[in-house]
Amino acid sequence: MTTQPDRPLSGIDLREEIDRLRKERNAVILAHYYQKPELQDLADFVGDSLELSRKAAETDADVIAFCGVKFMADTAKILSPEKIVVLPDMEAGCSLEDSCPPDKFRAFREKHPDHIALTYINCSTEVKALSDVIVTSSSAETILEQIPDDQPIIFGPDRHLGGYLNRKFNRDMLLWPGVCIVHEAFSERELMKLKAEHPDAPIAAHPECPPHIIDHADHVGSTSSILQFAKTFQGDTLIVATEPHIIHQMEKALPEKTFLGAPGADGNCNCNICPYMALNTMEKLYLCLRDLEPRIEIEEGLRIKAKASLDKMLEMASGTIGKGDLGDPTGD
Ligand code: SF4
Repeated sequence: MTTQPDRPLSGIDLREEIDRLRKERNAVILAHYYQKPELQDLADFVGDSLELSRKAAETDADVIAFCGVKFMADTAKILSPEKIVVLPDMEAGCSLEDSCPPDKFRAFREKHPDHIALTYINCSTEVKALSDVIVTSSSAETILEQIPDDQPIIFGPDRHLGGYLNRKFNRDMLLWPGVCIVHEAFSERELMKLKAEHPDAPIAAHPECPPHIIDHADHVGSTSSILQFAKTFQGDTLIVATEPHIIHQMEKALPEKTFLGAPGADGNCNCNICPYMALNTMEKLYLCLRDLEPRIEIEEGLRIKAKASLDKMLEMASGTIGKGDLGDPTGD
């Protein structure tokens, strides 16, 4: 269900009303780096998937308003079932989640019973419940390093992140064939043109990018890691190969530097803007805080199974468990 106003919200100061409702509802507003600048600016916390997952688990607010996509709000609900979790637009999905239907993923697992499933957080709650350990782009390397080299692994649903990890750690994980439509859209030819215009500018890329983009990158990492790189790189211009709304945080932190979004296929299309993240607006955020709808609901048995694989991620991302401590490899 998509929240839409019955009539235009004329005469309302949305920022003021959101602040009022935030207090009234004892709500915390979380925003992903790929959200519009106005949503990032009013959020209580802006972060990547791992940071937002942790924040969702720690907050003592009664309501979480999640400015992100549905799997992120689902994750908040899995970790905080007693809280009301609202998403401004329930249509805010993800191409990676869509690429991995739970029945097909279950069948794939059954074909490879000796493999554990290491699964990127960009997936449905059902797929999380079928997985052993969830990873984010910022926790994947730390977690993979804790898994014994001879343990066969299925990695889904992002084949580019999985392929990047396989190459970097000399692993042979079986890859689910999903992609992020945003990172898939970057053009190597256009990137090279931009690089020729700014030969001294390093390139920072997200590991959801295909290898022909990663191969040109000076830094590869999660959104948080790219932000960190932006604060430390030498020079005055950085080319950023991930969803361009992250540049808002860079420009706020480093107004004296120039940040250029990596181009899509024809050099100036908007195909590198996530169409799902873009569904969230100030107006929809106001409405979901006012109405406490649309609300995330997850059946309890499913939630507990999905939480086990998320808990494993949070433990392993903190480095608190060691090699060989992966539990039941069947995932159920
Ligand atoms: S940027 Fe890609 S991975 Fe992230 S939500 Fe959008 S489609 Fe999914």
